[in-house]
Order: sequence, then C-alpha cells, then structure tokens
Amino acid sequence: MPQSDFSGLIGIDLGTTFSCMARLSKDGTPVTIPNREGDRITPSVLLIEDDLVIIGKEAKRSECLAPEKTAVCVKRDMGLDQYGHSLGGRAFRPEVLSAFILKRLKNDAENRIGPVTHAVITVPAYFDDTRRKATQDAGKIAGLNVIDIINEPTAAALAYAFDQHVRRHAESNSLAGELPKKETTVLVYDLGGGTFDVSLVRMSPDKFETLATDGDVRLGGRDWDQRLVDYAAEQFIAAHGSDPREDPESLAFLYQAAEQAKHALSVRPATKIMVLHAATRMSVEITRELFEELTSSLLTRTEMTTDLVVESAGLTWKDVDRVLLVGGMTRSPPVREMLRRLSGKEPDASLSADEVVAHGAAIHGGMLLARQRAGDFPDAPPRWANFQTVDVNSHSLGVAVRTSSGYANSILIPKNTQLPVTKSKVYQTSSANQKQVRVRILEGEAVEAEACVQIGELLIRNLPPNLPPRSPIEVQVSYGTDGRISVVGRDLTSGKLVESVIVREGGLTENELGQEAQRIVGLEVG
Ligand code: AMP
Repeated sequence: MPQSDFSGLIGIDLGTTFSCMARLSKDGTPVTIPNREGDRITPSVLLIEDDLVIIGKEAKRSECLAPEKTAVCVKRDMGLDQYGHSLGGRAFRPEVLSAFILKRLKNDAENRIGPVTHAVITVPAYFDDTRRKATQDAGKIAGLNVIDIINEPTAAALAYAFDQHVRRHAESNSLAGELPKKETTVLVYDLGGGTFDVSLVRMSPDKFETLATDGDVRLGGRDWDQRLVDYAAEQFIAAHGSDPREDPESLAFLYQAAEQAKHALSVRPATKIMVLHAATRMSVEITRELFEELTSSLLTRTEMTTDLVVESAGLTWKDVDRVLLVGGMTRSPPVREMLRRLSGKEPDASLSADEVVAHGAAIHGGMLLARQRAGDFPDAPPRWANFQTVDVNSHSLGVAVRTSSGYANSILIPKNTQLPVTKSKVYQTSSANQKQVRVRILEGEAVEAEACVQIGELLIRNLPPNLPPRSPIEVQVSYGTDGRISVVGRDLTSGKLVESVIVREGGLTENELGQEAQRIVGLEVG
C-alpha cells in the first residue's frame, strides 16, 4: 500500500442478506465501492455448482430454481460447525461460505481500486467470541488482511458523525477543533435481514463511547418474512389441502414473494402474495394491518430490548438526543412508528441504511492506519490519529465454578464493561506437582453454567515442577477492543508467566484455517 493514502483499505459490511463495501477518498470521505455489476450492495447468497461458486444477484435468482445448491442467511449460522443444509451434497462451514462472499467482494473491489491491502469487517455488536472468531477466520480464508472487526452499530455511529460534522468541516478546511462541540447521545437501532442490534453511543469531540449494547443474533427481516410465509401457506392449505413449505422450490419461491410483499407494504396499504405449489397458483391478500398483527410480537421483542439498553446505561429517553436507523428493515413503517412512540423523537434515516455500516468500517480502518502510522497520512482529517472509539462487551464473561448443585457461572467481566478490560482470578492447584489447571470459559448472563455458551476450556499447562498443593495460579482473562477473548496465566509462587491457551469448543484451528484457504484457491468464485 502506498504509505501516504488509504487506497488499499476497504470497509466491509458482511450482511445476512446483503453485503456492502466502502473505501476512503484521499481526504477520508467514505465512498461505496460498487460491485462488478455496478450495484452498491451484493446479495449475500451463494450458488455452488461443482467447482464454481456464484455469488450475488445471479445466485439469488437461483434460490427458487436450485434451493438445494443455494445458501442464504449464512451469517445466522456463524459459529456453528456447519451451514444449515448441504449444498449439492457437500457440507460447508459457515465461515467458508462467508469467505466465498468476502473473496467475491475483494475481487470486485480490486477491479475498481487495485490491490486491497487492509480490511475492516463489521459484526453485530451482539456476536459472541465464537461468532467473531468465525468472521475473522472467514476473512483469513478469503486472503484478506483483516486489521480489525468493529461492531455494526459503532460503525454506523461513526459514519453518521462523520457525515454530520467531519465532512462539513473538512470541506471548509477547518476540521481541527470543529468535531462535535458538545456531547451527543445517540441510540443506534440496527435491524437487518438476520440480526438485531441496539447500542447507545456517546459522541464527543475526540471520543466515541458505547455505553450499552444488546440484541439478538437470530432476529431480523427473515423472521418477518417467515410470518408472511406461514400465513400464506396456511391460506393455501385451507384452499388446496397441501403445504407449499414442504417442497423446497415452492418454499424458496414463497420466501421471495413474502419478502417482496413486505417491501410493498412499506409504501402501500395492501398487496398480494403469490403462492405457487403443486401446479396450482393462489394469490393471498395481505393488508398492512394484518402484517402488523402477524409480526407484532417480533417488533415488541426489539422494543423491549431497546428500552432495556437505555435503562442499563442508567439513562432515560430524555437523555437520548437522536435515534439512528440502520439496516433494511428500518424502512418498514411499523418499525419507525414504534421508535417514534418509544423515544418521543423522529428517527434519523438521513444516511443509506444499506451503506452506512460499510462506510463506518472504512472510517474506522482509516483511523487505525492514521494512528499506527502517524505522519504517513497527510490527507487524513487532523483528529483521526487521536480519535478514540470505546466499545463494550455484549455478553458477560465468566468461568464455571463447582457448587453443591452442579456448576455455576462466576462472572468475571460483566456485560457492558468498556473495552479493553482485563480481570484476574486466582486458582489453587489441588495436588502436589500438578502440571495443569483447566477452567471452563463461559459467555452469558445465566446463573447456571450449562445455560451459558461455553467458549472453550482455558488450559494452564506446563506448570513448573514440584509445586506444592494449593499453589496459587493467577488467570487473567481479557476482552480486546474487538470483543475477542484472550488469557494469560501466571504462577504466583515464582511470579513467572505460564503457558495458557483457550481450547475452543468449535471453530477452526490454525492448521484447518490454512487447509480451508488452500481448498478455496481451487474453486472459481464469480
Ligand atoms: P440488511 O441486512 O440491512 O441488508 O437488511 C435486509 C432486510 O431489510 C431484509 O429482510 C429486507 O427484506 C429488509 N428490507 C429492505 N428494504 C425494505 C423495505 N423497503 N421495507 C421493508 N423491509 C425492507
């Protein structure tokens, strides 16, 4: 990468339904990079035909024709060992499918801007460590140099702030000292195709602080579509006696029809869903009222979480200055109406809900590079090198401790703690000359260990010889700024560091990562 500009840096919003990428212009303004078809967003859909992997619009069209070879909503399965169904008879890991999408984006970007040297990928704030690692691994498999992952709401807030303040002042060449003069507290409501995030961010002239975050990694537009699919399928069954959901092609067609109807209902009071099944066609009428009724429990879930975030930051709605809308589902009028009612404010949809996250990722990357190589970026906005972005952990981090009735979750780092953060706990060896200590690491809020997500086992190994029983071993567990977990162990008797590793529950080892990267080299991604 040329040392003095951002030309090889891209920000990637790897979305459930669509992905988007952005670069920075010489003065640091984020710009969407269109894909090779000239579209600003690329459907995150894959069609796998032998050694050919087709991504985007063409794959989306094939969803109805060849559902058994098509993958949709891969992001929802991130962190699992396998994508929901096999593709052309082959099982794929979600991070490998995501790597294909990233590879296609990288190729498209390189056609436009030349070699991509650095990338920032966004993740839902509510992603746990396993899902974050899977996203980073997808980047590595795709051959990207991922310099950071950043939470989607934080990226969106950065892009909004940039648009509001930075660009305006950069244009007048008076940026220094002109960033937001007073503190502004914004709530970012991000409802995409498959995930929901809500974050409260405090913006000040030189710092972005996330105060609290919450969400649901399996709640998004697809669930709204599902309600319409179920309603239309029931109408079809009542009229014709067979269920279109039982045939993969009819179901794929119905999903698309339901999504189109949902979009139409954002601008019209009523529309129709076409059901095609068993050589029969039926048109199902759907009004906005009925749509709202069918999906109200989903909206209520996001409403309760949104209210909780304000409360858990110790604030009230009076303290929130703005509500920013992110994600395609925020175009739906009931979503906007709910937020208007809840916050007492007009939600801000001034930036493209589809592109704002990728723009924020590019800005974040620019700030990182400006910080790492201060002086090498003469065109960077002056304050970038010193600008601080402070995030929080979206899940409590704990360890399993034995109790009289089983294992409990002993929380070391509570949810919504500002990052980076390190906490220590001292364990004792139980026998003489013990060689290792094992600790189960958990993410989650539940009291019982079994109700939390087990990230893996922390293994303190190769302890010095001849330690007496009950020797103190200190374990330091940290969340990095990217929300990833790391550990350090210390033998307190000698004061020396001891080998400590996290043996993860699932996910790929370094070796497997290399193998996957090799394997996709042989496939044509188009
Ligand atoms: P995203 O993940 O941010 O790309 O959001 C995609 C989700 O937004 C999908 O569920 C889309 O169906 C939904 N969406 C996009 N445009 C609209 C619209 N005009 N009205 C309702 N939902 C929409």
